[in-house]
Amino acid sequence: MEACGLWFRYRNAPSYALRGCDLRIPAGCRLALLGANGSGKTTLLLHLDGILRPERGIVHLDGVPQAYDRRSLRRWRRYVGLVVQHPDDMLLAGTVLQEVAFGPLNLGAAERDALAAVERILAELSLTHLRDRPIHLLSGGERHRVAIAAVAVTEPPVLLLDEPTAGLDPTAVEEVLEVLDRLHRHGTTVVVSTHDVDLAHRWADTVAVMVDGTVGRCGGPEILGDRALLGAARLRPPAVVRIWQSLPETLRPTACPPDIDALALFLTRARFRDQPVGSG
Ligand code: ADP
Repeated sequence: MEACGLWFRYRNAPSYALRGCDLRIPAGCRLALLGANGSGKTTLLLHLDGILRPERGIVHLDGVPQAYDRRSLRRWRRYVGLVVQHPDDMLLAGTVLQEVAFGPLNLGAAERDALAAVERILAELSLTHLRDRPIHLLSGGERHRVAIAAVAVTEPPVLLLDEPTAGLDPTAVEEVLEVLDRLHRHGTTVVVSTHDVDLAHRWADTVAVMVDGTVGRCGGPEILGDRALLGAARLRPPAVVRIWQSLPETLRPTACPPDIDALALFLTRARFRDQPVGSG
């Protein structure tokens, strides 16, 4: 899908939140939408989901320019799922089963089919053990994963997630990423907004950097080595990129590894490779 030249200003806001924003999302990618607070990430996601309508510009799904009549919006809902930033805004009272069944029932599925879809997605995301748990008894990380299941259950080809790892402890972050990886392996296009440059670098295959309401640059994770770009976006390059750039050329791997662990492994192996046999 693609956003072309989007302009948008919130009512009563003094300035535009999106200023001619372009973004092409290749099918099957893992895209990190990276930007500082207030750079327009949420506003762009709300446009990609059809919730907000641009003042100027257009969104294409499968090359087709989208309209905003009821029929087009219904088609849009099936094509794109949005997981909002605070799952509590999205989750209703009740059990995990009731919550996750809401999407398919709302799209008109028969109860039996909805329940089968719920069982399928809970199994796929290793959440079956939470099925009968009331939402209010879930941990923060579990709520995030249930919120993802509640959107993914209707199998939208494109999944948008607004800061899905914000406020989670490191284990819960990894669990959310594992859920996203599973959906991605099944063919879902996954778009995650974040200001976490390290996470974007190690997780994404495509990175779009937002600068004041536009996408400043979009490309492979290597664009996160562009200090001028990241400076304009009020971000810093990922730690692994900074270390990699500071290494002498003789030690540096040709491409920057995804994270510090991978770089450390490379350096350790290189050290043992260079050591003469028999030396301590
Ligand atoms: P991000 O998700 O990158 O933090 P947002 O899309 O939330 O950025 O915000 C982009 C700009 O729009 C910011 O200047 C923000 O203050 C403004 N904004 C966001 N939501 C509203 C709103 N409901 N009303 C007025 N201004 C808003």
